[in-house]
Amino acid sequence: IQSKLPQVGTTIFTVMSQLANTHHAINLGQGFPDFMMDEVLVEAVNQAMKNGFNQYAHTNGVPALREAIAEKVLYLYHTHINAETSITITPGGTYAIYTALTTILQPGDEVIVFEPAYDSYVPNIILNGAKPVFIALQYPNYAIPWNEVADKINNKTKAIIINSPHNPTGAILSEQDIQHLRNLIANTPINIISDEVYEHLIFDGIMHQSMLRYPDLMERSFVIASFGKTYHCTGWKLGYCIAAEPLMKEFRKVHQFNCFSCDTPKQIALAQYLQLKDKYLELGHFIQQKRDYFRNLMQGTGFEYIPSHGSYFECFSYTKLSDKPDDVFATTLVKEAGIATIPVSAFYHNKTDEKVLRFCFAKKEATLLEAAQRLQHFTK
Ligand code: PMP
Ligand code: GLN
Repeated sequence: IQSKLPQVGTTIFTVMSQLANTHHAINLGQGFPDFMMDEVLVEAVNQAMKNGFNQYAHTNGVPALREAIAEKVLYLYHTHINAETSITITPGGTYAIYTALTTILQPGDEVIVFEPAYDSYVPNIILNGAKPVFIALQYPNYAIPWNEVADKINNKTKAIIINSPHNPTGAILSEQDIQHLRNLIANTPINIISDEVYEHLIFDGIMHQSMLRYPDLMERSFVIASFGKTYHCTGWKLGYCIAAEPLMKEFRKVHQFNCFSCDTPKQIALAQYLQLKDKYLELGHFIQQKRDYFRNLMQGTGFEYIPSHGSYFECFSYTKLSDKPDDVFATTLVKEAGIATIPVSAFYHNKTDEKVLRFCFAKKEATLLEAAQRLQHFTK
């Protein structure tokens, strides 16, 4: 068989999780919580199954769930979204990104990708015969160098992928970033893939700069969300995409022949759960406490944090501890400290020698405490 992805191996998340299991390490690598999701939501799924909602859902998603999402968008971002024509429920955010890229890309198109980048973007672009154009975010605050974006835009540029809050760094878009983005693409047909799977996991009272707030940007965007990430149930693999009607019409053509429809009882349950505004409003504070707790515990280890403003993650520089490349140091940490992380170079295609590891702090306090104690011991 001729590989369609000859450069691609096994994802870093699988690799590090396996390594963690083999060495009985605490897994702060792959981004998933080790605490129980809200039992109210579990109970709602049980109830939906008992009530007989066990057959195919509508291909675009259960209408009540799409209505609930539209209500949430109106409440949070003051934008009216037509649930009938502009929202599609998908089996997770990763799938929605793939579908959006497949919907718009033709062979030879270029897509601007900021690095470090979530690892699915580039293979998705390549599978569509298009070309990723890389721009490095500015270390150490991982800001977007807008001058470079201006230089790299040309008539082949089909899309820009934006991810805020950002995985792996927790960097976020500011209002100024939005202005730059607006100015740069105003007279172009460029689409935006806006990966907003951490929309609610944003800290320090900062406002999430969703594309949904800006009608001029929204008319060319695919906004991506993940219920798994939002509600601490990553194994659910359920999310959605919002896009203007002409874009969504094409998105749905791809979607209907790929998965056709998603898990019915979970959609029924989420439609009810989204009515409970506090459940999503309290998420940022809840996860921020974990960031702060872990950050404090890490003091004195020699690891230096690079501030995260959102997501499940905080990056730490280890220049004071080792000269090893990050993938080598990450392996050492698993084997000798019993802690799995993700080397941030795994999110780059253009080589970087930054000495940075990503830690997932979406864990029970006991897990974070034990992890920090192991690191204290290792770095002593
Ligand atoms: N985008 C980013 C930036 C992510 O971190 C994740 C994490 N899983 C996803 C998309 C995909 O979400 P899902 O698990 O719903 O596919
Ligand atoms: N988004 C998760 C992370 O960044 C992992 C998802 C996956 O394993 N593909 O850790």
